[in-house]
Parts: sequence; structure tokens; C-alpha cells
Amino acid sequence: MNYEPVIGLEVHVQLKTKSKMFCACSTEFGVEGNKNTCPVCLGWPGSLPVVNETALKLAIRAGLALNCKVAERLKFDRKNYFYPDLPKAYQISQYDMPVNGKGFVDVETQTTDHRLQTTAKNEKEQSEKQNSELLAPRSTLKRIGITRAHLEEDAGKLLHEGIADGSLVDYNRGGIPLLEIVSEPDLRSPQEAYDYLTALKAILQYIEVSDCDMEKGSLRCDANVSVRPVSQEKFGTKVEIKNLNSFKMVQKAIQYEIERQTGILEDKEAVIQETRLWEDKKGVTVSMRSKEEAHDYRYFPEPDLVPFTLSRKTVEEIKKTLPELPLERAKRFVKTFGISEYDAQVLCQEKKLAEYFEACVKEGAAAKSASNWIQSEILAILNEKNLSVENFPITAASTAGTIRLIEKGAISGKIAKEVYREMFETGKDAETIVKEKGLTQVSDTGLIEKAVEKAIAANPAAAQEFKAGKQKALGALVGFVMKETAGKANPKLVNEILINKLGTRS
Ligand SMILES: [Zn+2]
Repeated sequence: MNYEPVIGLEVHVQLKTKSKMFCACSTEFGVEGNKNTCPVCLGWPGSLPVVNETALKLAIRAGLALNCKVAERLKFDRKNYFYPDLPKAYQISQYDMPVNGKGFVDVETQTTDHRLQTTAKNEKEQSEKQNSELLAPRSTLKRIGITRAHLEEDAGKLLHEGIADGSLVDYNRGGIPLLEIVSEPDLRSPQEAYDYLTALKAILQYIEVSDCDMEKGSLRCDANVSVRPVSQEKFGTKVEIKNLNSFKMVQKAIQYEIERQTGILEDKEAVIQETRLWEDKKGVTVSMRSKEEAHDYRYFPEPDLVPFTLSRKTVEEIKKTLPELPLERAKRFVKTFGISEYDAQVLCQEKKLAEYFEACVKEGAAAKSASNWIQSEILAILNEKNLSVENFPITAASTAGTIRLIEKGAISGKIAKEVYREMFETGKDAETIVKEKGLTQVSDTGLIEKAVEKAIAANPAAAQEFKAGKQKALGALVGFVMKETAGKANPKLVNEILINKLGTRS
């Protein structure tokens, strides 16, 4: 029998506010334990919560960008459960009247894993352009439903490591505003889940409601996974996976869970509804507890915060301030700059990267060259050095300058890469490095001709083969000339002169 997975994701995003959701405590990250606390976020009797207006506005902003129906009237509820990192023994959340109702995200889903191919492209220095066009995966637009996106407060954090007797608790995170974005069970593969998260993160960063930094815990994700026979309409029993600290982990854990559940069904056994933890080192999910239902939490309206009406005027005003979103920007890039859809998508995944690309074009780089350069060179350096675009030291103007040097024929693409690395290390601009190192491309035909003659003399077999019609044989000769000129000969001229010489002799 064939089985298909049904996947839904719950994403918790920390909203970018200076103070907590219901009190004036700071949200600053990385400070001394329990420094950012007060009677409200510690749940002392008699303390009263007050809704953070900025958090509410950011939540609405996110809802609008996710095409959600923003509520006219909303209310907060208590979600009751005991846990040592939750001093009130309840969390203030939203149950039946969330700030954002149904919405959707349009996601470019890849039919193949593009990241593997990007690496392959980097390794092959030759014919990069052709490769990226050949290997560019087909993507299709898929609409993923959003069930709701509601406001809630975060819990504290327990620390177990390095403590022999007992655990420590840090309430700095307790009360931090979160937006929980719940997707419909519309995802059908680990890759789709990955693409949905990527699209969601890009949108949230574009609209500046969260920094979405998974390392700081400002974006967290749980996955609901079930499996059913392809012909069956009813969903299978779902399992919730927690402890997913990166998009890659989400992808791997879902893949593992699909295989585990399919195995159970194939053995004619039943999947148990439960919460499982992803153990990244072992690459498995393990049972944590039986899955709780909403009624287990005994939700009830928060008596200290009365339900309230949202003015449509406020919502409309927030809507007016929404910027161009990633998908719109990618479409504009294709239209304005004539780059491929795939390239536009890669560039627009991160706002700062898209801005960098536009700045390069403004500084006079050809759009296609800038797009290729950013995707091959810049992304490689960022990856290697674990840097973000914001912290990339080479300015768009300097990058554009390097690209222009290649286009003018002053340096070869290969030399340009070396120069660029040096620019990254030393902070000097391309022209200075080229001058200092005497790297200017040789376009002196006399000089190249001499090297070409030498190449033909040294490789008579290759020359003969080329004359006999074997195009490939030219490679050995070009290689010889490049070596002879320390990689500085203009490859276009080398080719022309070679073909010319071999042609006239035959
Ligand atoms: Zn507080």
C-alpha cells in the first residue's frame, strides 16, 4: 500500500518588543539570570497584567502579512498547567478569540533539494552560469493554510547542565511576547515543511516583527505528523514532535517520523497519539508523553484582562505600513532585472540579501552577473565564516567594482575570485589588489599568440585531435596557455587565437 504524510507546523515567534507581554520588564537577551523579572511575570498574588500595545500591533502586522482575518473582538485566556518554569501555573494565551484567524502563505516548494545542488555548483568552478541554469530546480507555488496566529507569553527556562543536585530556573524569558502561528495540515513532505518555514521566516523578517533567530530561541517550531493510505481521506493518528532547533532538524525529524509511522502501519499496528522529542545526535524521535488535548488545559477567560474590540482604523493603518513582501519582490526582480525565477527566489529569501543585490545593480553591476556573484561567492563566504549579510564587510559598491573589472576584461573570473577573498580579508578594494599584485588580465594578443604557439608545439597530439574535429581537445591547449600566463590571459582571446591558428594550419 502507498502511504502519504500529513504535516502541520506550530511556529512560535518572539515579537520584537522592548518590554514583556504583560509587564514593563525588559526583553533583553543574555543578561544575568532572573534580572528581568517583576511581580507580574513572576505571578505574585495581587499583581495585574497589562497588554503590551506594541506586541499587539506586531501580531496584527504579522496576521495581515499572512493574509489572516484580523479579529474584531479578542480576548485572552488562561491555559492551566503546572511546570517549574511557569510560576503562575498557567500561561496567558488566546483560546477561542485569537487576534488572527484563518489566513494563508504562498510557498515556492522545491521538487528537488536545491541546497545540495548549490554546493555542487560551488565546487565546479567551470561553466557556473550554465550549471545554475541546468540545475535550477523546478518550483511550484503551493498555498499553505494558516489556522490562526495568536498571542501568548513565553515560559521561563530550566537549566540542568553542570548542576549536580537539582536544576536552576531563569524567569527572564517568562512573559516574553510570542506569536504562535498554527498551519493547516496542508504540508505533504519534509521538503514542503522546510520551504514553508523558509517562506514564513522571510515574511516575518521583511515586516520586522521578529528577528527569527533560532539560536536565541526567537523562532521555535513543533511539527504534527501523521501518515495515511493515499486513498484514505481521514487523517491518521498524529504525533507531535518537539525540540526542533533548526529547519534542517525539522526536515530530518519529519522524515524519520514518516518512516517510523509507515513501518507501524505496514505491520498492521496502531500509531499512538503522543508527543515525541527529536534526538538530533541519534537521529531519532523518542516518546516524551501522551499527547494532551485542548480540554486537558482547562482554558478559561483571563479575568484580569477584559475582552476588547479592535478598531478597523488601527488595522487599516497597520496594513498601509506593510512593505513589499518576499514573493512580490522576487516577481519584481524577474521582471525588472531579467534574472531567473529561481535566482530571484534565492536573493529574496533574506531581505538584506535582496537589498544588497539591488545596491550592486545600482552601483553599475550587470544584474545577472551580480546575481551569480552573490549566489556563488558571497553566500559561500557567509556560509564558511558563519556570517550574516548585515555583517558582510565588503560593500555593494566594492562588489559591483569587482564585477565591472571582470566585465571590462581587466581580470578573469578566476582571478576575481582570489581578489575577492583578499578584499574580504584585508578590506582593500579590487583595483588596489589587482594593481599591487600585477593581476591585470593579459589581453596583449602578441603575448597570447606566443603562448599559443608554445602550447601547440608542446601538445601536438591535442592539436591534431582538434583539427580532426574533436572539440574537447582544445581544453588541454587552453589549459597550457593559462598555465603559461599564470592564469592571466583573457580566456576569450586565448580561444579565438587558438582556433584561428589551428584553423589556418589545417
Ligand atoms: Zn515582569
